Amino acid sequence: MDTHEFRRLGHELIDWIATYRDNIETYPVMSPAQPGEISGKLPRIPPQKSEGLDAILGDLDRIVMPGITHWNHPGFFAYFPSNSSLSSVLADLVCAGLGSQGMSWQTSPAATEVEDVVMDWLRQMLGLSEAFTGVIQDTASTATFCALLCAREKSSAFSQNRGGLQGESTPLIVYASDQGHSSIPKAALLAGFGKDHLRLIPTDENHALRLEALEAAIQADLAAGLKPCALVAAIGTTATTAMDPLEAMAALAQKYGLWLHVDAAMAGTAMICPECRELWAGVEVADSIVLNPHKWMGTGFDLTAYFVRDPEHLIRVMGTNPSYLHTAQDGQVRNLRDWGIPLGRRFRALKLWFLIRDQGVEGLQTRIRRDLANAQWLKEQIDAAPHWERMAPVDLQTVCIRHVPLELKADELALKEHNLAIADAINQSGRSYLTPSVLKGQQMIRVSIGAEATERKHLEALWADLQLAAQEN
Ligand SMILES: *Cc1c(COP(=O)(O)O)cnc(C)c1O
Repeated sequence: MDTHEFRRLGHELIDWIATYRDNIETYPVMSPAQPGEISGKLPRIPPQKSEGLDAILGDLDRIVMPGITHWNHPGFFAYFPSNSSLSSVLADLVCAGLGSQGMSWQTSPAATEVEDVVMDWLRQMLGLSEAFTGVIQDTASTATFCALLCAREKSSAFSQNRGGLQGESTPLIVYASDQGHSSIPKAALLAGFGKDHLRLIPTDENHALRLEALEAAIQADLAAGLKPCALVAAIGTTATTAMDPLEAMAALAQKYGLWLHVDAAMAGTAMICPECRELWAGVEVADSIVLNPHKWMGTGFDLTAYFVRDPEHLIRVMGTNPSYLHTAQDGQVRNLRDWGIPLGRRFRALKLWFLIRDQGVEGLQTRIRRDLANAQWLKEQIDAAPHWERMAPVDLQTVCIRHVPLELKADELALKEHNLAIADAINQSGRSYLTPSVLKGQQMIRVSIGAEATERKHLEALWADLQLAAQEN
């Protein structure tokens, strides 16, 4: 492809994306594709000769679009919001067009320095003090893995430079809530702690970690001669966006010398609004914090923000320094390859730079406040409606509900089928998409609000559809 062809097709593709966003409401939110349906439309063998890209737009519509679930659809209430603001779409295009590799400062100084600045903007936007330094990672899963590796090396006085965990005589213990994200156990296992040394602490009626159970677990481990190492606090659990009692957990972390990692992957975006920050009071004591601008904030997947208190420690754990990577500026600059797991890094910071400049802090705050108000509106409808139950507090934008008709009240299995049928009816309708999920043995329907395009009228339509589905199923 030459630049002449690129220019022509590129303009067409920008038009195609803009038309898609204009018409997004005409698509069913959840892809109706059956397994194998999309691959069945593709040739099984690669083209031997160039076939050019003339047919590509038609093939996108014919082959790809039926297999897309539309995360930017205003009727998207499933999983979590994953907004891809149009400004960040353009930033991704620039990133790809430059094709630069930001593993070291010298390999593209702008990639490092724009990241330095926008991560500091983000720190200020979240109300975090200058004690924290930010770096971009691919996903929260990777950031939490880094956090537990750092915790492991701190507690073991750098066992990686000796026999690793295999050479340690005292097992290290990790604590998190039983409502924490699956990336936490995954990180603990991958970091070599072992399942026997992971404590998933029970939660209270609001699905937040129970402090006394945490302290009892720490003391039992100490009494057994084990070494408490890391504590992961969920600021916004996966199922209900419950808030762990961070301030008191931070005090325990200090008392027992634990690494404190805050997983605010979804909910962290809310901290751009000062009135939400009491939800993570205590965060200043954290050793590390993760949040995902690629969820509610709008940078498009993937862009995770990882903030650490002690960058020197992170670099000591992650750094590699082979001679072929040495450069003359090493003492004066950040080489971001040493701030995470991959060596190579693309220029993700462009997405945050474009987004923040396009929307401004106030624009982001206005959108978050709209979503918070929409969640409160739905909460009020549920609380006022007979036979609907709310399963958790609505601190932010997740509303967890179920329909409990009188005749099914005592029959958990029938309630499960009834609520699954309601969710299925909504998802098959194509107008909205939400996630049924099980909370401590009870079937519920999760409504996760926060797609950029979602306005009050979309929630009103969803609520009407839910009530109708509850009657019909
Ligand atoms: C989404 C989410 C994660 C995982 O995010 P990835 O970036 O996909 O790895 C972790 N924790 C919480 C609370 C989340 O909401």
